[in-house]
Amino acid sequence: MLYFKSCPKCATGTIEHNYDTHGEFAQCLNCGFMRDTPGAVSERKFKQLLGNWRNELLAHEQSLSEAVA
Ligand SMILES: [Zn+2]
Repeated sequence: MLYFKSCPKCATGTIEHNYDTHGEFAQCLNCGFMRDTPGAVSERKFKQLLGNWRNELLAHEQSLSEAVA
């Protein structure tokens, strides 16, 4: 399953929801962003995960900029 322009990190990248011998994962074909996902996650739940990761990354960037300032 491909999710176009859905990357939590680079925003414009295509996220591929795939699986290997270790389990399911999400990977950005553009920037290489990768996260493990729970097994047999629904499309709706997967999009929620993408939103969660986006929020995590934003919070992380914010804490970095605060550390500099
Ligand atoms: Zn990306």
